[in-house]
Amino acid sequence: MAETRLGDEIDDYCVKCRRITNHSVVSMVNREPAKMRCRTCYNEHDYRREEAPPKKDAKKEALFKEVLSSIDPAAVETEAAAQKSGKTRSKKS
Ligand SMILES: [Zn+2]
Repeated sequence: MAETRLGDEIDDYCVKCRRITNHSVVSMVNREPAKMRCRTCYNEHDYRREEAPPKKDAKKEALFKEVLSSIDPAAVETEAAAQKSGKTRSKKS
């Protein structure tokens, strides 16, 4: 691989664009890119080696749904329906 230099344009993952975009090398450490600037949104970040960060929110959501369904998916639906009808009733009376 050719040596990367300051100001070079290389591909990296941008968290703001959420995809691989062209980046300018803005900082080098030990002949390795350290900081990058996205050429699309100009966001500066550490060099990610084109790797997307783990999606924490998606993982959390999946876990939450898994826990809910493992308890009793029908119970969750019934509870929501009961709350809805309860609200409507209290408004009328
Ligand atoms: Zn970007």
